[in-house]
Amino acid sequence: MDLEKLVKNLEKNDYKVSCFDTAAEASAYLNEQIDGKSVGFGGSMTLEEMGLFESLGKHNEVIWHWHPGSRPESEARELSTKTEIYLSSVNGMAETGEIINIDGNGNRVAGMLYGHKKVYLVVGENKVAPNYEKALWRARNIAAPLNAKRLSCKTPCAVKGDRCYDCDSPGRICRGVSLLWKAPRSMEFEVVLVKEKLGY
Ligand code: SF4
Repeated sequence: MDLEKLVKNLEKNDYKVSCFDTAAEASAYLNEQIDGKSVGFGGSMTLEEMGLFESLGKHNEVIWHWHPGSRPESEARELSTKTEIYLSSVNGMAETGEIINIDGNGNRVAGMLYGHKKVYLVVGENKVAPNYEKALWRARNIAAPLNAKRLSCKTPCAVKGDRCYDCDSPGRICRGVSLLWKAPRSMEFEVVLVKEKLGY
């Protein structure tokens, strides 16, 4: 990963950027920055691995459909798109500055695009590719098949575990893709880069 090039291009694209050597340092930073807020989470193994639902939940109201508590999952999914702060990771990030997410239900891309005061994107170094084409390839052929496998989808990528087959399966999880060329204007955006492998 060419960190210098990535940071320069993200800043050019109107993102604030913070870099950390470890997930623990990034987690401590996020817990300092986000306090006493309502916080929505998009589906993300990165956030799960970092234990952010638990740590932020001690001093914020955190809403996540992966941990809906007494709410129905659908209600948690909807409420999470209306919070002050929104957290997600990405499926692919290009050193040239483009950010890619593939979604099945749409709540994650909706939450990233509108409706909050600030969005944090937490990104491990494994999500970074040299350019847009390679970042999109990774989102489709690495992130999506691993997510399909995690969800036990009856899709060719989950069964074979090697690549995307652009399937027509009823269980297809890849239903839409968002490409951010630059940070949307209506919210603050911060990319939290971590020099560790996080999520997929
Ligand atoms: S389009 Fe189908 S085969 Fe491709 S990653 Fe998504 S679910 Fe798997």
